[in-house]
Amino acid sequence: MQPFNYDPGPLGAEEVDFKVACCGICHSDLSMIDNEWGMLAYPLVPGHEVVGQVVVLGPRAKGLLSGQVDLGWTAGSCMHCRSCLGGDHHLCGTAVPTIVGRHSGFAHRVRSHWAWAVPLPDNVRPEIAGPLLCGGITVFNPLLEFEVLATSRIGVMGIGGLGHMALRFANAWGCEVTAFTPSPDKFEEAKRLGAHQVVSTNNSQDIAAL
Ligand SMILES: [Zn+2]
Ligand SMILES: [Zn+2]
Repeated sequence: MQPFNYDPGPLGAEEVDFKVACCGICHSDLSMIDNEWGMLAYPLVPGHEVVGQVVVLGPRAKGLLSGQVDLGWTAGSCMHCRSCLGGDHHLCGTAVPTIVGRHSGFAHRVRSHWAWAVPLPDNVRPEIAGPLLCGGITVFNPLLEFEVLATSRIGVMGIGGLGHMALRFANAWGCEVTAFTPSPDKFEEAKRLGAHQVVSTNNSQDIAAL
């Protein structure tokens, strides 16, 4: 790892540049650094849990872009295909992953399409917000996608980087939350994070009882 300078070129009409305040690190950054997916061209500037402030707006950039913004896995999409027009921009066939083929968040500045610079309330601390933008949205989305209700019972399998946020979301959603983990040392923490009960994935009797 070493410092790297680059010129991002002229700003596109619908693009924004933002000044990075903080950037979380995700396992996908490590996968890219190690070229596990075979789509890396060095040099790589990783980082796709970016929090900062918009400093330059392209002339056709839209949205509420003053104040704190964030950028997650995707930095751009076409805005005119069926997926984009249907609100599923992340499924756009030409969506641009923030850390693939472009330089991203572990930098002074990062660039994205305006639609992917998402406003983040100013009272959310930038140094802790990063994980919400990748692991966080991954476990929040199913609550909406599957129309989970406050009366639902939710099981969270695996209490790690994603699972610990799933416990907090599901608890705040009003659900009865069960954490599943093979690690007894995570039981108390899982309860503190919002699990109403914790079941060992190594205990088939307890699972059968549920
Ligand atoms: Zn990630
Ligand atoms: Zn599209």
